[in-house]
Amino acid sequence: AKGVGRNNYQFYSAAMTERATRQLALQTGLRAALDNGELLLHYQPQVDCRTGRIVGVEALLRWRHPDEGMISPAQFIPVAEETGLIVPIGEWVLRTACLQAIAWQRQGLAPMRTAVNLSARQFKDPQFARRVLEILRETGLDGQFLELEITESTLMDGLDSVNAVLHDFKRAGILISLDDFGTGYSSLSYLKRFPIDKLKIDQSFVHDLLTDVSDASLVRAVIAMARALRLIVIAEGVETPGQYEFLRADGCDELQGYHIARPMPAEQVASFVARYNRR
Ligand code: C2E
Ligand code: CA
Ligand code: CA
Ligand code: CA
Repeated sequence: AKGVGRNNYQFYSAAMTERATRQLALQTGLRAALDNGELLLHYQPQVDCRTGRIVGVEALLRWRHPDEGMISPAQFIPVAEETGLIVPIGEWVLRTACLQAIAWQRQGLAPMRTAVNLSARQFKDPQFARRVLEILRETGLDGQFLELEITESTLMDGLDSVNAVLHDFKRAGILISLDDFGTGYSSLSYLKRFPIDKLKIDQSFVHDLLTDVSDASLVRAVIAMARALRLIVIAEGVETPGQYEFLRADGCDELQGYHIARPMPAEQVASFVARYNRR
């Protein structure tokens, strides 16, 4: 028995060392990734339920590692947040997404909103609001075509300074969206205290929408509340025609998910949108 315990210990210890080594490799690699052009954005369409047309895209970060191939943001965003690298990376994401939005407009694509994800860590930079507004000016994108996605954790730890930054964004015409809605705490008081325009129902509630009665009730309640508060409501993770139809019939404003399209490289967006909107 003693031997087994010892082996277990060695097993955990080896696993922990491996994890730590991997974290360190990610950290070092990520530092270089930005300079070496290994980061890129994919874009996932968002559809207006009433018109059936694509009205926006969400920019999603990708890391094409020279040896390991594509690394998921779920793996490297936490590392970027811990090391503070999310600040320069976040700025790169924002500038790249704004430049891309301008390029699509120049190509004659009907104006769409581009949504960019923000980390709580970015709000700790006292220059953050100024930098965002500078990027809009530099790229020439009108604020009304930019949407910024934040999560409840951002609202939870920033308080007054976060509120001030969000108001600066609003004054520039930027849309503020609350991502992963329903997975955090105290959501309702946040809706009153912060200038939120849009709720994004988390995909975990959409997944079993048609089979789980409590998920269906929760989604219905969020849609009703959003309408009462005059917020735009979008559901993400829509994978099937059944989910699409349920959410549309229930009054969801916009939908996003594999059923419409997977996140795609920038080069594919214009032709996809043209085809989808013509259909
Ligand atoms: P998120 O913001 O909640 O993004 C939605 C995630 O769900 C994306 O994963 C997307 O590819 C995936 N998804 C979209 N439709 C479906 C669907 O129908 N079914 C399923 N199962 N999944 C779907 P992704 O691209 O791997 O991103 C993961 C997370 O990484 C994002 O979650 C976001 O929190 C973070 N992230 C991505 N890009 C950035 C960024 O530029 N900055 C920051 N701070 N975080 C980012
Ligand atoms: Ca998001
Ligand atoms: Ca989300
Ligand atoms: Ca998420």
